Amino acid sequence: MLKPRLILSSCLNLEKTRYDGKLIELPLVRKFQKFCEIISVCPEVGIGLPVPREKIILLKRNGGIYAVKIFTGEDLTEKLILFSKNFIQNLPEIEGIFLKSKSPSCGVSFKTKVYKDVEGKEILDYEQGIFAKEILKIFPFLPIVDEEILKDKDNLENFLIRIFVLRKFRAFKEEAQKKDDIIFFHKKMEWLLLCYDEPKTKEIERILLYEKSKFLEVLQFYENNFKQILSNSLKRETIGQVILSVLEKEKRKKIQFLIEKYQNKEIALIELLSHFKKLIKKESLKKESMQYNFEIYPEEFKDCLI
Ligand code: SF4
Repeated sequence: MLKPRLILSSCLNLEKTRYDGKLIELPLVRKFQKFCEIISVCPEVGIGLPVPREKIILLKRNGGIYAVKIFTGEDLTEKLILFSKNFIQNLPEIEGIFLKSKSPSCGVSFKTKVYKDVEGKEILDYEQGIFAKEILKIFPFLPIVDEEILKDKDNLENFLIRIFVLRKFRAFKEEAQKKDDIIFFHKKMEWLLLCYDEPKTKEIERILLYEKSKFLEVLQFYENNFKQILSNSLKRETIGQVILSVLEKEKRKKIQFLIEKYQNKEIALIELLSHFKKLIKKESLKKESMQYNFEIYPEEFKDCLI
């Protein structure tokens, strides 16, 4: 399977860049390292801070939130924003971002403490880190997470699907030459897009069939919409409905119990799909379902999802 490009906070399994010089070891990150092309980043080391160093905290002052050195209050916010902008500008095309939670620089989930005082005694609120905020502004439709977000199995499965499917899209884009190539790609991924957003998927299909613009404009239109659809949340019930809608009545019975298992979080989606694929192969079902692409993330992640 093609490797997605993933930005990873360097203190997660990679380098001892934390303020205390420690490395955070996460088995899940090992899997990402194996199956993704990793671009590591440490914004705090990136702005020239040493390891070990004084802790940085988020401080609320005059209505704004700033990243400052604990005790001295030295403001590092502008430096972190500048680093983030330069870093983003020099990136190749990426498929996802996995950062360290609760960090004043990297935290994505709103779990970074915001203090009232430079000593870090009184917590006022919880926020995102400065680097994470800049990244989120630039990539509204990319999957961006931290390890807190991925503790939820649905979030993890969704993240995996998005990064591996976006990687497929990049490969397709590099080869595509005509509108029919886009229609063919859309057909292969349609079942998945329907699970995310049925009305928009059908609308795109109509537009693709009748659109007369130049190829590159159609490709750009398709890319924007493809990424936007995948940024919705994936619902387990919808996946079951889409699978059943493709199958004939007799075949539905054969997969119903697996759909239920998936909905009860007893099996991963990839397992359900491998049975679905076998049913489709055996029988002469709707022509388009024969072309579906079900390789949405590597089998090796199955254990992390149940
Ligand atoms: S959380 Fe971010 S800023 Fe802090 S050490 Fe890790 S990579 Fe560097």
